[in-house]
Amino acid sequence: VISLARQKFLVPDRAGMPEPSKYASVVMPGGEHRVAGSTEATRGCKHLCRHCPIVPVYNGAFRVVRARVVLEDIRQQVAAGARHITFGDPDFFNGPSHAISIVEAMHREFPELTYDVTIKIEHLRKQDALLPALRDTGCLFVTSAVESVDDAVLEKFDKGHTRADFLAVAARFRELGMTLLPTFVPFTPWTTLEGYSDLLGVLAQESLTENVAPIQLAIRLLIPAGSRLLELPEVARWWVRSIPRRSCFPGSMKTREWTLSRVKFLSWCSAAIALNFRARKFLGTFAAPQTRPPEIARRTRSRILYQRARRCRISMSPGIAAPSRWTFNSCPSGK
Ligand code: SF4
Repeated sequence: VISLARQKFLVPDRAGMPEPSKYASVVMPGGEHRVAGSTEATRGCKHLCRHCPIVPVYNGAFRVVRARVVLEDIRQQVAAGARHITFGDPDFFNGPSHAISIVEAMHREFPELTYDVTIKIEHLRKQDALLPALRDTGCLFVTSAVESVDDAVLEKFDKGHTRADFLAVAARFRELGMTLLPTFVPFTPWTTLEGYSDLLGVLAQESLTENVAPIQLAIRLLIPAGSRLLELPEVARWWVRSIPRRSCFPGSMKTREWTLSRVKFLSWCSAAIALNFRARKFLGTFAAPQTRPPEIARRTRSRILYQRARRCRISMSPGIAAPSRWTFNSCPSGK
């Protein structure tokens, strides 16, 4: 049952749950493992980003959990051994004053406790003045759904930020000595090879390679029932053409993956890059081709030829035409 009505949230009853040490822990730079707890200061989200799976459920509604309840929940988790708290709010700055009052109270009571939050780039820009307060109250890192560095894709997602905003936030975090963990949806129907290379280049230039989990370079766009992406005529058109009539969409809430074979292939390439090659080394070979040693140049060329061959093969498999600036059917022969 989903209820979006205003509620009087209670302190979660965690009795009977496995002790916090059985869950994930945060590994600090010195190697120390901190048991991580989790709580929420709000539920839902007031934004309507087109690609977001929260929107079909909450549709712009968000509900505040009273500070007293949140702090009591933190207290019981600290008593059980937690030394780090992850705030699971879809966006911690949907209610910035509420959020800051909670972390300040938490820090007063538990000065050694660290925490992490998720905040969208738009809010990080608008609430710039609150960032030092996060840092000074023990915020270890901020996760932010950047999704793309291509302004055209960001506009389709209705994300509320641009590439320039992301770069400004990255610079601000460096200035403040804070850690930004950007997340991405690199594989969409609008992804091009140039765009993907650009994303890797931006991460290298901004010294964010180590801050991006490898899986973030392999994520594909998901379109759940009720997604606002279906408002876009081209998406609705592709959707109808790519989903067989027997599909349960849209009568069910099951999530359907975008199953373009080419997108899937690019995803595999990405996983190979991220997991099997050291991303930084890979980027280095592309960032400075003129200084590439002959052996690396030879291996890089082999890799490119291999990818082109795979791509050409995949382009012959059934699927729909990707609206790419560099269409896969016209990919170079590799000569
Ligand atoms: S992507 Fe983030 S900000 Fe946008 S609707 Fe989803 S939770 Fe809210």
